[in-house]
Amino acid sequence: MFWNKNIETIDRTGLENLQWEKLQKVLRAAAETPFYKKFFLDHKINISELVSLQSIARLPFTTKHDLRLSYPYGMVAVPRDKIVRLHASSGTTGKSTVIFYTQKDIDDWADLVARSMVATGTSRSDVFQNMMGYGLFTGGLGLHYGAERLGTMVIPASTGNTLKQIQLMQDFEVSVIHITPSYSLHLIDVLQEHGIAPEELSLKKAYLGAEPYSEATRQKIEELYKIDAYNSYGLSEMNGPGVAFECEEKKGMHIWEDYYFVEIINPDTGEVLPDGEEGELVLTHLNREAQPILRYRTRDLTRIIPEPCACGRTHRRIERIKGRTDDMMIIGGVNVFPSQIESVLMNFPEVGNNYQILLERQENLDRMIIKVEIYSKMFHGDLRELKRLEAKLREELKAIIIINPRIELLEPGSLPPSMGKAIRVIDNRKI
Ligand code: AMP
Ligand code: ZN
Repeated sequence: MFWNKNIETIDRTGLENLQWEKLQKVLRAAAETPFYKKFFLDHKINISELVSLQSIARLPFTTKHDLRLSYPYGMVAVPRDKIVRLHASSGTTGKSTVIFYTQKDIDDWADLVARSMVATGTSRSDVFQNMMGYGLFTGGLGLHYGAERLGTMVIPASTGNTLKQIQLMQDFEVSVIHITPSYSLHLIDVLQEHGIAPEELSLKKAYLGAEPYSEATRQKIEELYKIDAYNSYGLSEMNGPGVAFECEEKKGMHIWEDYYFVEIINPDTGEVLPDGEEGELVLTHLNREAQPILRYRTRDLTRIIPEPCACGRTHRRIERIKGRTDDMMIIGGVNVFPSQIESVLMNFPEVGNNYQILLERQENLDRMIIKVEIYSKMFHGDLRELKRLEAKLREELKAIIIINPRIELLEPGSLPPSMGKAIRVIDNRKI
């Protein structure tokens, strides 16, 4: 099923021509903003010298820091009365940044989300419960408008109030949910606590996004709920969700290249990497009116999957986000991503649905403590059994992350449940 088959299956030459056409327009619009006017001047960039799609590599990158510098209106390319909305990034790292939209931007965004939902097989006959935060965060309203554009009934449940969420799912035969992976794992715990089997629900699929998670976690969620889970990627700076989304093949996320120009760079050198190599995702708006952003460093690590997708869409796919260049932990000199730890944990059937990584420094040595909730059915309180599990977890983690963590096994429900983006790492080290 396609939302707009012509554009979703456009041949590469056609797509590149379209991108070049749109890029020229975006460059001209950006050049009128106070931020890029100065930026181009400082970097001695004359946009009329950019003569092809590839010459975009001559532009310096735009960073989150630049967005903060230009706060509040420095990157706006339209008169204030054309702006109809603002959103702000959740500020996982530092102060939040603000993004503006014209009516056309909102419409385009809704269209991309509708396209993404259709790519997963969702239709007007589905019932969609949106369990992402409504408000400044883009996750709630982004999917909301897209689902309405598609014509699917939307329940704007937002986050929290888990019992109410379950009641809505039951009463209105919800078939699709949009939820963070961490909250979905909490929700399944509450379902189990109340003796509700997932089969009693009408749920068919979940859109999981807003935070990094592993393939093992996706599989775990699919098995627990008996549904299909689709990866959904986006960031406020690029509208919000709907930047890249999995199709029914579930093998990486199609990045909508008629709206976003994609590059993967070496995060240390800034050099553009060939398709297939892992690096930092850099995105350029090809459609934004209110606030075009050029070569934005997302800090997200991924790679382009160069092979064509069986679904027929020609827009390239990106692999699951491995982590962010800035959530990389350095422990005793070893680089570790929380996602590596998560994939090990989630492969153990004994492991429950919540965990936390604590970093401490004792006598100048870094220590990692991983607090892990045990799956309720496995929690018999048999000490020898727990010790064995602890040792096994430690051993498997060590094989992957090289360092030796201390494992603390906890009863289900011991760690604070997460509603929005989960806080997985608490770093108590003093530098
Ligand atoms: P925000 O702008 O506050 O919505 O945050 C966007 C960031 O959330 C992205 O840059 C990613 O780091 C993260 N994120 C969003 N969706 C996903 C996903 N599907 N997998 C991993 N990380 C994600
Ligand atoms: Zn596909």
